[in-house]
Amino acid sequence: MSEHRFILQPYCGVGSRHTCPSCHKKRCFSRYIDTEKQVTFPDDVGRCDHEQSCSYHRTPKEYFERNPHDKPQHSDWSAPSARRATPTEPTKPTKPASFIAADTVVQTLHGYDRNNLFLFLKSKFGPDDAERMMREYCVGTSKHWPGACVFWQTDINGCIRTGKVMLYDAGSGKRVKEPFNHVSWAHSLMKLPDYNLRQCFFGEHLLPMNRGKPVALVESEKTALIANWYLPEYVWLATGGKNGCLNADALRVLSGRQVILYPDLGATEQWRQKLPLMKSLGIEATIFNFMDDVADDTDKSAGYDIADYLLQIEPDQAVLQSMIRKYPMLQKFIDDLQLELVSVERYDPTTGTLLSTSNNLNNEK
Ligand SMILES: [Zn+2]
Repeated sequence: MSEHRFILQPYCGVGSRHTCPSCHKKRCFSRYIDTEKQVTFPDDVGRCDHEQSCSYHRTPKEYFERNPHDKPQHSDWSAPSARRATPTEPTKPTKPASFIAADTVVQTLHGYDRNNLFLFLKSKFGPDDAERMMREYCVGTSKHWPGACVFWQTDINGCIRTGKVMLYDAGSGKRVKEPFNHVSWAHSLMKLPDYNLRQCFFGEHLLPMNRGKPVALVESEKTALIANWYLPEYVWLATGGKNGCLNADALRVLSGRQVILYPDLGATEQWRQKLPLMKSLGIEATIFNFMDDVADDTDKSAGYDIADYLLQIEPDQAVLQSMIRKYPMLQKFIDDLQLELVSVERYDPTTGTLLSTSNNLNNEK
């Protein structure tokens, strides 16, 4: 993880984009931050979004070369690789990933009252938590279909690989698949020329901020958002599909981390086959079998995933008990995860300020 100590500030959050010191355009400049909060860089250490016209990029490495006294002692860090460079296979050179400008993304982080996913989350968690979930995970509003959302795939360095545009039903929170499956991709809709899409995990930008936490991997972006609300002691990431980014290129960011896999019903075997690959990448992965072991046939045919179970849990013990009577498998689930109702304080990951305190099911393990 040390190589990701210095990262471009994730762009979700107020004031995370600045005027470029080179081309002087507004809201296009991302500064580097120290995730260990020891080094504060001057304002010109960062990267301009205008890769073609401006291409300004001053890395922490360059900064330390000029200011060796500011370099942290006894640390084994290395600066994030240069602009557009992402880890490449030594044997098979990979074309560098293309990115979407952060400004484009920021413009979508509004209009949540027209966003069906937000409306669904708001009905479950209230407006404040719903908005925090959307911003933390970088979920925007898309005009592609009325009510659509866009899940931005932001990588570990804060660069945007693409956005997955999807439509949910505001009442049920289920995906709209009729009369056709409502899924589209931002880079296609934007008609960006020669776009080299290299997908990353949805939520990957949260990894450097949550260094000590184990990672929980699910298929669906919506599930990652919801599970993160219930079980914030994990960093919840989504693969974006059955195969999504379960490949060496994308998995590399999880190297050295403890990872729990939560495959959807029926996908366990497929994910199990990825375990040797993960092991070879230094990922300590285990599969959580709850879905296949405990779900009954009705749930299976309904295609339940962990979010559907979590959504049955209300953050109130009395309600919880009645839910357990109604859904006995919840008790096993709660026991397995050693959950208990505790008070949780939430902080803004970018500023460290206290956002809210709420009762929550928590895992005190
Ligand atoms: Zn610039």
